[in-house]
Amino acid sequence: MTESNFEALRITEILHSPQGEAKTVGKPTAFVGLTGCPLGCQYCDTVYALVGGDLLSLETILQEVKRYQCSLVTVTGGEPLA
Ligand code: SF4
Repeated sequence: MTESNFEALRITEILHSPQGEAKTVGKPTAFVGLTGCPLGCQYCDTVYALVGGDLLSLETILQEVKRYQCSLVTVTGGEPLA
């Protein structure tokens, strides 16, 4: 498992984009991309998110998300808690 605790998470990227799936498709969304995953799926389309990243405090993550001023947030992978 990638290093993380209750006060910080290892983050690959935080970005703003229209949601591409689910019931909120097309709506402005902030995406928080976590780093790491123990599963190693052969079809993984986010191998860039399996290593590296930056350990960010929850406060820093929330500040970045608030910058995008949208009401939807998706936490996505890597899937370090899998
Ligand atoms: S990030 Fe998702 S697709 Fe990639 S290895 Fe982990 S579970 Fe599989």
